[in-house]
Amino acid sequence: MKSCSKCKKSSPIEELFIPLKSKEFYCPECFSEVITKKGKQAWLTWILGLTVCIWGAITYPDDKFFYLGVTFFSWGVVNFISITIHELVHYLFTKLLGGYCPRVSFGEGGLIYSFHSKHTIWELRASPSLGITYVAFPTHLQQGWRYLVVLASAGLVNLSIAVSAFLLVYFEAIKGLHSLIAVFIIVFGVVNLLLFFSAFWPRVIRAGQSTDGAQILEILKKNDAFFDKLHMGYQLNIADALISRGEYATLITFIESCKDYENSPLHCSCLEYAYIQLGKLDIALEYSNRSIELLETHDKDCLPLGSSVEALKAIFLNNLAFALYLMNSEDSERMVNAANFAYQNIPWNDAIISTWASIQIEYGDLSKGISLLEKLVSKKREIDDKCSAQNYASLAIGYRKANKLDEMNKAKAKSIALDPHCILLERI
Ligand SMILES: [Zn+2]
Ligand SMILES: [Zn+2]
Repeated sequence: MKSCSKCKKSSPIEELFIPLKSKEFYCPECFSEVITKKGKQAWLTWILGLTVCIWGAITYPDDKFFYLGVTFFSWGVVNFISITIHELVHYLFTKLLGGYCPRVSFGEGGLIYSFHSKHTIWELRASPSLGITYVAFPTHLQQGWRYLVVLASAGLVNLSIAVSAFLLVYFEAIKGLHSLIAVFIIVFGVVNLLLFFSAFWPRVIRAGQSTDGAQILEILKKNDAFFDKLHMGYQLNIADALISRGEYATLITFIESCKDYENSPLHCSCLEYAYIQLGKLDIALEYSNRSIELLETHDKDCLPLGSSVEALKAIFLNNLAFALYLMNSEDSERMVNAANFAYQNIPWNDAIISTWASIQIEYGDLSKGISLLEKLVSKKREIDDKCSAQNYASLAIGYRKANKLDEMNKAKAKSIALDPHCILLERI
């Protein structure tokens, strides 16, 4: 059992904890909170420091101190701009080669702002440490070279920026420029060079995520198994974006167009999710059982790289418990056991807490279920309205059972406001 340095929740699945400093390990939720906080602090320091130093350098042009300050504080901002350029190059080359990007994120951690264009969810996140572009090509364009071009292009653009900056310095073209602009050009060059190396250096960044260079190497080795898994990962990225957009009918069409989807536990699990959202519970339950069966028989073979079998088992059992709960299944023992397994293994996940708490209210400890849900709805997280509505509806059920009618009406009203078609409303 390992436990999170911040919230102290523990789980036997050690690989889920993310290391930050040598002895600090965080659950994914707390990790996101921590880097969000650090990211916001970093932005504040850079902007304040940079403003003061630029002002100083303009007012006292002969004082070296302020130029050093500009070099120091512009580092982070320039790095973020360079990451942004890097991701946009991935995006551009994907588009040029006939593919599209279901999601492009600048930064990681808490969401600051997002908007949807026709095929892409664009996100700005609080911590400037990383950028992610999901890439997808239609079936007839699934060739290794397209992925190679997309993967390599971004780092190579960073390298060309670095080379251009150094050429400007070498040929003394920056001499005629204002010293401040010269400083920026040098920082820009150095940062882009470092970014080139860090993108091409083959390594795993976090579980399930490796650098451009690591992916390029595997494709060059003509590792078919890797390419299949890479492709599977990209399909699931598309599915993930469709879920974020709430486009469940499109999700079903898309998954059914994927080759061999019925033998992939994650594809089946996406279908289950879509059918639950569309209220077709019988079909959802079938796919739920199928995803668990496949996971148990094939293990890692049928999963994208970096997946944790244990974590997926917990998530699938949670989905099963939720489907059984929605169906008012007679088999409450199976439901409670499945939800309990999920909660014991991933106790920080909002969806798992929600299922566990709702089932506690109906079949277990009423007050514990209520208090878990109260905590859940008071959190400000990136959670979609449908899920929030379900949490409020479950909470209203709990209040009814506890004879707190005022609270029940308030929770019910909130649920209706968030999603008037919420599947749990009729149970209150
Ligand atoms: Zn935690
Ligand atoms: Zn990249």
